[in-house]
Amino acid sequence: MNNNKNPVSVDGKVVRYRIAPARPEAHLYAVSCSVEDPDSAGQQFALPAWIPGSYMIREFARHIVSIRAESRGRAVGLEKLDKHTWQAAPVAAALVLHYEVYAWDLSVRGAHLDTTHGFFNGTSVFVRVLGHEQETCIVEIAPPAGTRYRAWRVATSLPRMGAPLAGFGVHVARNYDELIDHPVEMGTFASLRFRACGVPHEMAITGVQQADTARLARDLKKICETQIRFWHGNAAASGARGVAPMERYQFLTTALGEGYGGLEHRASTALMCSRGDLPQRGVKEVAESYRGFLGLCSHEYFHTWNVKRLKPAPFAPYDLDRENYTTLLWMFEGFTSYYDDLMLLRSGLIGRDSYLELLARTITNHLRTGGRERQTVAESSFDAWIKYYRQDENSPNAVVSYYVKGSLVALCLDLHIRARTGGRRSLDDVMRLLWRRRGVDGSGIGDDEVEALAEEASGLRLHAFFDQAVRSTAELPLARLLATHGVRLRRRPAKSATDKGGVEKGEERPTKTRAASLGVRSRTEGKEIILTHVLEGGAAQGAGLAAGDAIVSVDGLRPRPGGLEALLAARRPGGMMQVHAFRRDELREFRVRLQAAPADTCDLSVVEARGGALRRRWLGSGDE
Ligand SMILES: [Zn+2]
Repeated sequence: MNNNKNPVSVDGKVVRYRIAPARPEAHLYAVSCSVEDPDSAGQQFALPAWIPGSYMIREFARHIVSIRAESRGRAVGLEKLDKHTWQAAPVAAALVLHYEVYAWDLSVRGAHLDTTHGFFNGTSVFVRVLGHEQETCIVEIAPPAGTRYRAWRVATSLPRMGAPLAGFGVHVARNYDELIDHPVEMGTFASLRFRACGVPHEMAITGVQQADTARLARDLKKICETQIRFWHGNAAASGARGVAPMERYQFLTTALGEGYGGLEHRASTALMCSRGDLPQRGVKEVAESYRGFLGLCSHEYFHTWNVKRLKPAPFAPYDLDRENYTTLLWMFEGFTSYYDDLMLLRSGLIGRDSYLELLARTITNHLRTGGRERQTVAESSFDAWIKYYRQDENSPNAVVSYYVKGSLVALCLDLHIRARTGGRRSLDDVMRLLWRRRGVDGSGIGDDEVEALAEEASGLRLHAFFDQAVRSTAELPLARLLATHGVRLRRRPAKSATDKGGVEKGEERPTKTRAASLGVRSRTEGKEIILTHVLEGGAAQGAGLAAGDAIVSVDGLRPRPGGLEALLAARRPGGMMQVHAFRRDELREFRVRLQAAPADTCDLSVVEARGGALRRRWLGSGDE
C-alpha cells in the first residue's frame, strides 16, 4: 500500500543526521550521522553511486574530503572497503560518523554551496547506514553561522518535525529511501504558492530574476490540477481531499543566464532554467521559451506518478551501489515526455497549433537521429548508463533517445487505440490501469507488463504494435496514425540551420530545388569549422572526414561567417567540394561528393475535413 501520506512516527529505532553549510566560501557541508546500535561486527556506511532519475554512475563519494568516526568522544578506526563504502571498528556504544562534502556541482543532480545559496540532494550528502535502511531518519538542517546569512531560509518537501512548513531545524524521513528523495535549497530565494486540488504547492526561485510570479503560480496551478485529475479522475474533480499521493509539493528552481534541466522526486522537483524562460511582466502570450519551461515543470510533475511511484520492478527498491537496469525507460521517460506537452494543451495554456508545432519538432528530432536504425528503445533504456547518458561524437549514429522515440511510441499507441476503438479508449486508460495495478502499491512493473496491461485497458491485441514500436528499429507508423486523426505529416529537407519543422499552413508549397548536404554537425571556432559529428552514410563520411577535423578552406577559400550553411546554400547535390582540414595538426585534403539534403524535417497540418471527431477527442477543446 501507499503509506507515503501517513504522518511519520518515531517510536522505533532512528538514524540521526546533522548537515550544516559549515564553510560556504569553501563549498563545504559538514555532516554527521549517528547510529544508536551499530553493527557489532563493525558498522558499514555507503554513499550512493548514482541518483535515481539520472541513469549514470556519478560516484558521489569522490566529493567527501574528510571523514572520521567516534564513539563516546573517542576516535574509532575507519576502514575504506571500496570506492564508496566505509567500515568502522566494532564498538559497544553509539557511533557517530563526521565528514565534509565538497559541493560545487551546480546541477539538479548534485550538491552546491557558496556564499549566495546552498542546494543538495541526499544522495550527495547522506551516507546509508547498512542494515539500518528502514529506520526513521531524523535530520537537523542547520543554518550557516554569521550575520551575512541571517536572511537565509530553507525550501524542501522533507517534512519538518512537529511543523508542517519547511525551514531550518529538525526534519524527518520514514527511511533512507525517502531521506534521499527530498532535495533541499537554502538561501534568499523568491517564493510563490498555490493550491492544486487542495494540495499546497510552492515554488522557490533562486537567482536574480524579475519573473511574473503571480502568472507563473496561476499557470502551474492549471497544469497540476489537470494532472491530478488525469490520474485520479472523479475523486479529484469532486474536490475530495487526499486523492493526490503527496501531502504537499515543492518546485525548486534555479534561474541562470543559460541552463536547462530537471530531476523528479516524490513530492518535489529540482529545476534549472534560463532567466529568460520565466514569464516576463506585462507579457500576455506564452513565449516559446516560457512554453519550454512550463513543459519542463509539467514533465517533472508527471513523474510524481510515472516513475516515482509507478516504477520499473528493478527500482523497487533501488540498487544504489551500481547500475540498476530496466528496459522500460521508453515508458517512464518517453510517455512522460508525450504527456508533458499534452498537459499544457489540456490545461488550456497552449492551443492546437502550438501543440502540433511541438510535436512536429519532436518528430524532426527523431528523423535526424540515424541511431534509430541501430538501437531499439528497449535497448536504449537498458544501455542508458553507457550510451544515452554518455554521448560522444558517434551517438547520433548509434543511439536512439528513449525520451524522443519513447514519446512518439506513446503518440502512436494513443492514436492506434483511439482509432481502433472509435475514440472510446486511449492511452489515458492504459496509464490509469498501470497506476491502479502497479502504482498505488509501489510494487513495480515487470518488463513485459506494459504490453499486457495496455491490451487489458484497450481491449486490443497489441503484440504486433509492441514488436514494431518497442522491440524493433522499424519506422513508427506516424503518418498513417496521424492521418486517422486528420493530421497530415509531411517530410522535407530543412530550409535553414534553425529549421526544426512546425505547423504548415495550407498555401505553402515545398521548394522544388534540393539543397546539398555534407552530412555533419559542426560548430564554428574563430575562422575554423570544427566537425562535431560525422553522420552515418553522409557525404563527409564517404570522403573520409572525421569528428574533430578543423575545416580551414573549402574550394581554396576560407569559410565565410555563417559556417557550413552558407557554403552549402550555393551548392547542388552531386557536385564536388574540395575541403582542407587539420587533423592532429596535419593538413589534409578531402574531395567530397555532396548529397541531397535528407527529408528529415517534419511539418504537420490539420486536414479539417478528416478525422474531426477523433481529433477533437485527442486534442480536446484545444482543437479549434
Ligand atoms: Zn523525465
